[in-house]
Amino acid sequence: MIYLDNAATTRMFEGAVDEYQKFACNLFYNPSAFYREGREVKACLDQARKSLLKKLGATKGDIIFTSGATESNNLAIMGAKRNGSWEYIFSMGEHPSVYNVAKELEQQRCKVHYLPLLENGQVDYSNLENLINDKTRLVCVMHVSNETGVVNDIEKISEIVKTKSKALLHVDGVQAFNKIDFALDKLNVDSYTISAHKFHGPKGVGALYVKNKSNIKNIVFGGGQEENLRSGTENTSGIMAMKWANEHINVRENFDKALLLKQTMTKILLQDNNIKIIDSESPYIMSVSYKGVNGETLARILQDEGVLVSTGSACSTKKAGNRTLESMGLKKEDVVSSIRISFNAYMSEAEIKDAGEIILKCASKLSELKT
Ligand code: PMP
Repeated sequence: MIYLDNAATTRMFEGAVDEYQKFACNLFYNPSAFYREGREVKACLDQARKSLLKKLGATKGDIIFTSGATESNNLAIMGAKRNGSWEYIFSMGEHPSVYNVAKELEQQRCKVHYLPLLENGQVDYSNLENLINDKTRLVCVMHVSNETGVVNDIEKISEIVKTKSKALLHVDGVQAFNKIDFALDKLNVDSYTISAHKFHGPKGVGALYVKNKSNIKNIVFGGGQEENLRSGTENTSGIMAMKWANEHINVRENFDKALLLKQTMTKILLQDNNIKIIDSESPYIMSVSYKGVNGETLARILQDEGVLVSTGSACSTKKAGNRTLESMGLKKEDVVSSIRISFNAYMSEAEIKDAGEIILKCASKLSELKT
C-alpha cells in the first residue's frame, strides 16, 4: 500500500510511541499533583513548551496544550470574541475547524466578513485592506492550505492587520509547522495553531501558541490548568510524544526530501496532458485533477490498486464541493475532478514513481470508459 494522504494524518514515529508509553505507564502522575512525582511530570511539560516555542521561533508568548487543532482554533476564536459591535474576518480557504466557528459567530449575530481567495490560492490581500477597520477584533488566515499546499504570506498579512487596526491575527499553522521554515517572531501573529498528528506525533493532542494570553478568555471551565485557558488534566503522554516528534524533525532537510518527491510525482503526472496540477509552495501537498474524471471515483479505484489519496479535506468528505477550490475560481468540472496527494519526507522515490504510474493508468482508463 502506498499512503499518499499525509495531510490527513501521519504515522507516529516509533520513538514518539515509546515516549507516549513512558508517560502512560511509568511517569503517569498528574502534573498538577503537589508531590514530587507530579512536579517532575509538570517540569517535563514545561520542557515540551520550551521545545515547541523554540521550533516555532517565538521568543515570547505561551504554549497552551489542547486536544488538537480543532480545539486550538475554537479557543483562539471564541476566546477572542468580545461583546459589542466588533467585526471578524475569515479567509474562504479555512479548515472547517475555523470556518464553522465563523458560521457560529454569525449565528450569535456577530458581524463576520469572508476574505475571498485569489486565483493562485492565496488570500486576497487588497481585499483584506478594504475590510479591515477600527472595529475589527480578529482576522483568521491559515498559513498553508490543507487542500492545495498554497502558502499565504503571513508577514504581509500581519503588516496589513497591524498598521490598519488593533485587531488580533490568528493563524492555523497545522500544515506549516514542522513542514516549512518560518519564525513566529518575524510573522508577528497573536495566536498560532499546531497539531501533533500532522508531524508524526499522536492524534488528539496539539497546542495553541498565544503571544499575549490576556487577549483570550477560556472557553471551558474547570480546574484552571494551562493558565486557566484550557482546564482538564493535560494529555501528558500525548504532549511528551509530540515533543519527541518535534525534536526529531529537521524541517529544512525534510523540506528538500519532500520537494524531490513532489517533483517526481509532478513529472510523471504531467506526461498526460489531461492532468492539471495547482501550483503550490508546500512540497507536502498537491491538488491534481484529470480532465473528465470524477475525483471521488478515481480515489476509490486507486484504493483498490493500493494507493491512498483523498478528495479534498478528509475532515469534510461528507460535504459536496470544495470551498477552497471554488473560491479560487476553479471551474466546477475541475473541482469535481480533484484529488489531493500528500507526502511525508520518509517515503521513497520508488514508491512515488509507482504511485504516479498507477494514478495515470487508473485515470486514463476511467476517462476511456466515459468516452
Ligand atoms: N486545520 C488544518 C489546516 C488541518 O489540516 C486540520 C486537519 N485536517 C485541522 C485544522 C484539524 O486538526 P485536528 O485533527 O488536530 O483537530
